[in-house]
Amino acid sequence: MNKSNELFEKAVKVIPGGVNSPVRAFGSVNMNPIFIRNAKGSYIYDVDGKKYIDYISSWGPMIFGHCDEELNKVAINALEKGVSYGVPSDVEVEMAEIITQAYKGCEMVRMVNSGTEATMSAIRVARGYTGKDKIIKFEGCYHGHSDCLLVKSGSGTLTFNVQTSPGVPVDTVKHTLVCEYNNIDSVKETIEKNKGEIACIIIEPVPGNMGVVAPNIEFMRELRKITEDNNIVLIYDEVITGFRLSYGGAAELFDIVPDMVCFGKIIGGGLPVGAYGGKSEIMSMVSPVGKVYQAGTLSGNPLAMSMGIAVLNRLKNNQKLYIELENKAKKLEEGFKSNIELSGVKAVVSRYKSMLSLFFTDREVNGYSDVVTSDTEKYAKYFQSMLKSEILLPPAQYEVMFMNATLSDKDIEYTIKANLKAFMELSKY
Ligand code: PMP
Repeated sequence: MNKSNELFEKAVKVIPGGVNSPVRAFGSVNMNPIFIRNAKGSYIYDVDGKKYIDYISSWGPMIFGHCDEELNKVAINALEKGVSYGVPSDVEVEMAEIITQAYKGCEMVRMVNSGTEATMSAIRVARGYTGKDKIIKFEGCYHGHSDCLLVKSGSGTLTFNVQTSPGVPVDTVKHTLVCEYNNIDSVKETIEKNKGEIACIIIEPVPGNMGVVAPNIEFMRELRKITEDNNIVLIYDEVITGFRLSYGGAAELFDIVPDMVCFGKIIGGGLPVGAYGGKSEIMSMVSPVGKVYQAGTLSGNPLAMSMGIAVLNRLKNNQKLYIELENKAKKLEEGFKSNIELSGVKAVVSRYKSMLSLFFTDREVNGYSDVVTSDTEKYAKYFQSMLKSEILLPPAQYEVMFMNATLSDKDIEYTIKANLKAFMELSKY
């Protein structure tokens, strides 16, 4: 038995499903997970000594690749000054200044420890600010695992078919209304039926948790208008997209500014971090200035802040990097598309900037109802074939391939070749 399987055998006895987060399980690709020993640049190495090109990138944070020497030094220096104080430190102020300067309309920000905490807290604040209870989310969008957001959700909940989770009281989710992404009529109808009762709308401005779905800018514009007209707080969940699509996020890209925004992933450079922010008027609701309570023992800890600041400083004014990341994804997209033609496999490539997904469907992908027509068994075979070729893809159909700065042309060309090989195998079925 190889070492990964040995570890998995031990893990399932002491950790539910053997993993600390469901998307890490390889169940939906019909195999046991590989266990990682270390990672460097664009490569990740398992405990059996196999090397893979890594397109998971810790689900987004590793935008500069793994184990970047400069960033490691920053973390080591921070460690030497103490990991956490529980009283304020200068790096918390620096981080807040960086985020508020980077993101339009984000005048104040509060640090937390995960994306889940960020969205959960933003919703509490939006409810406190508007004095209303109901919220709108979109089918297939994932905003972490807090109770009121585990409704028709994406990511692992979609992969493992637990979009509406047992353990969440019906009373807790009765205020969560679900609309169709990219369909403004579904939003208009829901607002009309719940006139004066909706506190906020939370949205992934570019969904990544049902695979990538490209946004429709007109839909986003109308969403902004309808929320303004109805005193509804518009929250962008930029946990994936923040500082990945561009330094100023979707607000800058679309030139459509939300009232509140949530971050995670990249802003911690791989350490556990999240943040939520917005207009001062709204954020002033948060304790100890306002009455909406939200707190965190390790929030803004100097280790994560120092790492995050170093990452964000490197991304600032780095248009070249954003172009390079997009070009890598574009090259993969072109290669995959030509392989689809060559092999006759029924698949489509969905890309937005540097986010990319390959869906095994023949439908054009504009929203949730298209995404779920994908053949997940085919994806499982594809995943396994790519893994044999030493390429690590997300072990689930409804996820994103993440580009990082260290991914070389050679890596990409090799990936395209392996993709053709995998498609040729698939076309035999
Ligand atoms: N929002 C979005 C858009 C996410 O993609 C995720 C995680 N994949 C979360 C929230 C939750 O973040 P975390 O896993 O850090 O709690």
